[in-house]
Amino acid sequence: MKVIKFGGTSVGSVQALLQLKRIVEQQAERPVVIVVSAIAGMTDFLIKTARIAAEGNTNYLTELNLMKNRHFSLIEGIFAPEQQKPVIEEFSAIFDELGNIFQGVALIRELSDKSEDVIVSYGERLSSLMISRMLNIPHYDARQLIKTNYKFGKHIVNFEQTSAAIKAQLSQLPALSVMGGFISSDAQSGEITNIGRGGSDYTAAILASELKASILEIWTDVDGFMTADPKVINNAYVIENLSYVEAMELSNFGAKVIYPPTIFPVYHKNIPIRIKNTFNPGAPGTYISKDKTAGEGKAIKGISSIPDTSLITIQGMGMVGVIGVNYRIFKTLAKAGISVFLVSQASSENTTSIGVRNADAELTVKVLKEEFSHEIEMGEINEIFAENELATVAIVGEGMKRTTGIAGKLFTTLGRNGINVIACAQGASETNISFVIKLDHLRKSLNVIHDSFFLSEYQVLNVFLTGIGTVGGSLLDQIRQQQPKLMAENSLQLNVVGIADIDKAIFSREGIDLGQYKELLEREGKASNPDLLRDEILNMNIFNSVFVDCTASPDIAALYEDLLSHNVSVVAANKIAASSDYDNYARLKELARRKGVKYLFETNVGAGLPIINTMNSLIHSGDRILKMEAVLSGTLNFIFNTISAEKPLSKTIKMAQEARFSEPDPRIDLSGTDVIRKLVILAREAGYRVEQDDVVKNLFIPDQYFKGSLEDFWKCIPELDAGFEAKRKLLEKESKRWRFVAKMENGACSVGLQEVGPLHPFYDLEGSNNIILIQTERYFQDPMVIKGYGAGAGVTAAGVFGDIMSIANIR
Ligand code: ADP
Ligand code: ASP
Ligand code: MG
Repeated sequence: MKVIKFGGTSVGSVQALLQLKRIVEQQAERPVVIVVSAIAGMTDFLIKTARIAAEGNTNYLTELNLMKNRHFSLIEGIFAPEQQKPVIEEFSAIFDELGNIFQGVALIRELSDKSEDVIVSYGERLSSLMISRMLNIPHYDARQLIKTNYKFGKHIVNFEQTSAAIKAQLSQLPALSVMGGFISSDAQSGEITNIGRGGSDYTAAILASELKASILEIWTDVDGFMTADPKVINNAYVIENLSYVEAMELSNFGAKVIYPPTIFPVYHKNIPIRIKNTFNPGAPGTYISKDKTAGEGKAIKGISSIPDTSLITIQGMGMVGVIGVNYRIFKTLAKAGISVFLVSQASSENTTSIGVRNADAELTVKVLKEEFSHEIEMGEINEIFAENELATVAIVGEGMKRTTGIAGKLFTTLGRNGINVIACAQGASETNISFVIKLDHLRKSLNVIHDSFFLSEYQVLNVFLTGIGTVGGSLLDQIRQQQPKLMAENSLQLNVVGIADIDKAIFSREGIDLGQYKELLEREGKASNPDLLRDEILNMNIFNSVFVDCTASPDIAALYEDLLSHNVSVVAANKIAASSDYDNYARLKELARRKGVKYLFETNVGAGLPIINTMNSLIHSGDRILKMEAVLSGTLNFIFNTISAEKPLSKTIKMAQEARFSEPDPRIDLSGTDVIRKLVILAREAGYRVEQDDVVKNLFIPDQYFKGSLEDFWKCIPELDAGFEAKRKLLEKESKRWRFVAKMENGACSVGLQEVGPLHPFYDLEGSNNIILIQTERYFQDPMVIKGYGAGAGVTAAGVFGDIMSIANIR
């Protein structure tokens, strides 16, 4: 025989009921006992309406009518017109009865626990009757079968009487029959009770166990037990196999796909459970049995969480070494009917923390204060209070037993994402590690763990991009083109979750459609400025996130510190921060290191050329950088390569600007400022403490040209053309070329115009290319040479992309 339980959504619509019918009719194995929940939302609806009535508010009548109509429309949807009448009459009578109870509650304006239990029982009574009539099969009254005792404020199943009742009444099972889940009656008084919210699963398990079913099937609205709640983690997926212990641990910590006590009765008789989806019956679902399956090499099987958590800490020097404190804590809580789902005690015995539901927190504090009033008065135990707004997360898997380092990895991962663990507990069975965090961090924690323990089939990296000019725009295009490939080949979902330009920004947790970000920004963009941008990013509190700065703005660079300290990595094409005061540069790097995130700026020097990364690799392997000589300005190189009798200096500057090789204000290039910034960054990355002012400058445009406005500059610059042309002719005769060279030797830096002959490695440097010679202890005789495009939106964007990839650990 088989027990099949259908949840609230499986009986909550016409489509679901017809589907249920099909599923039942297709069952090969008989007899089948069907256990059903109330139609979706009905139990809550009944409780809500009872409370309305208890206030003496006649609105309960409206609510009652809504419920009635909902059931009537189901009846109309599943029965042929001629069959509807008797069923409607039957249901009307039950609704009249329920109406009378509500009226009674409204009159005396009081809702006792007993009346509430009577009222909620109607949900399952109605739904089971509906199934019985729809399938034309016998109906059992669960109240006659499931018997309870009242203990510590709860109705606990009395297995002896329940077993006897089931044996007596269900010894001859018809091929198909149905009963309501959840509801029961008191073993002594016979009054209506229930076995707790979500309890229909438990009813089905008890029945399966007593009737020695071959299997217990639980039909719900998801494809099975998933690695995490699919409503929070969108890439959660179905776990094919779970052991009883794993299923128990997961459901105990909030995976509400099954009610926690459900496992025990079937575990005891070794009856497997299969979770199935009524709305997708073809899916295999989850199989729960005694077998411990390793879960394809994954140490953990799933994550679950209890968002409603209060932590109560009993702390004091007076507890150390005193026998019986814990006994008193738990005895007191048990007496008050409070269930504790997490306990954590330091080995010093000075602190015991317990996790309870928010609703129990106040009572917990009260009874503990009473129990320990003497100790509190004597100062042996500190004031007892509850910490609220917390959540408990549990990671579960039998595989943890055989794997070392899980806890280490868990806490490192959380720490790197800025999530503080307030209390934690691991049972000696090693199948569960649970910990308490701030409720605000719950979503992020679940995501982070799901991702880092490879529960996810793919990794997610969340990008916030600011600056959608040439580099930022190219980057978004490149990301859009690469997204499918990164997913297919690297299992990486590169999500752009925020895009900001100078005064507008858009955000989306799910990722922005890069095909139309410009229109979205235009149409839906919120007003933005650097502070608002930072606040929005920190508020979104998204895991694995990177801030990408494709602006040249000092105000944006000023955000890095806040972002890094909140565990957001930073990738900067913007050179301002790395070339600012040495102390600021060093602080940002140190901050990133401390927070376990990254601050990368490869494109600050040589656009997409791998200069900084290469230097870092050399240094990490123990090499020392002694000297660097480089042409680092694509703009200046372009100018000196283009200048000719026909194209005087002023014209080449204009051409560079128009080709977007230069900064928007070309004076930043011409004054050497840009090259100085780059050189300073290189020298620092090579290990030297250098400030911009330390760089010796030998410029080729006199200072006065940089003083006025940009307009003045364009007006005056042709004055230099003739002088330059004369020098250029001389140079040409000597077969030499101009290069604007940046140099560093043992920390001493300079920039200036240099004439190079045909044998010099810089002589052939074309267009806007860059070159750098790096002399190190290992590359001593022949310095290392890196050469290539040193400017341009595409290559710079690619360099930024490379930094982003290295944060995702993909190269
Ligand atoms: P039913 O009414 O069928 O008993 P429930 O609402 O009690 O259904 O349980 C199913 C719901 O449990 C799913 O819709 C899902 O949102 C939630 N859930 C929470 N955690 C998990 C998980 N780890 N796997 C699957 N579902 C989960
Ligand atoms: N109807 C009850 C509830 O909503 C029992 C169940 O659905 O399992 O809690
Ligand atoms: Mg349920």
